[in-house]
Amino acid sequence: MNCYCGQGAAFADCCEPYIRGIRQAPTAEALMRSRYSAFCCGEADYLLASLHPSKRVSESRESLEQSFTETQWCSLRVLSCRSGEAGQTVGEVEFVAFYQTGMEVGQLHERSRFVCDSNQWLYCDGDILPPLKLGRNDECWCGSGRKLKKCHPD
Ligand SMILES: [Zn+2]
Ligand SMILES: [Zn+2]
Repeated sequence: MNCYCGQGAAFADCCEPYIRGIRQAPTAEALMRSRYSAFCCGEADYLLASLHPSKRVSESRESLEQSFTETQWCSLRVLSCRSGEAGQTVGEVEFVAFYQTGMEVGQLHERSRFVCDSNQWLYCDGDILPPLKLGRNDECWCGSGRKLKKCHPD
């Protein structure tokens, strides 16, 4: 199975080892991707563990588990990264994640901030950015890899 995060690698060779705690995500981008995959497969423990301790109070297992049942994540695009490489201590990743709630398609366009503490990248917080406008020739939101006009035109 291809990884949820859309990198093209198998889940077992991509985000799964981070989610299972077998390996530490080496970069802020890898951590961000693995958190997206954890949302896709409903891994509340990992989502809480990869959150900066100062933020854990505002995120509850109950609200995460409710989001897993209500939101179906469709695809992820990483738009840009600033720092966040192995050996650095801070990083930013801008991404857009497309999701469906019932029949509605939505997107989360966010610039997230990460810190690396004792070789472990953690998600701190992020700024929500305006939704992207998808053109007919852009890749479809559903993650098929096809153009919007050939896949889910409306
Ligand atoms: Zn992945
Ligand atoms: Zn589509």
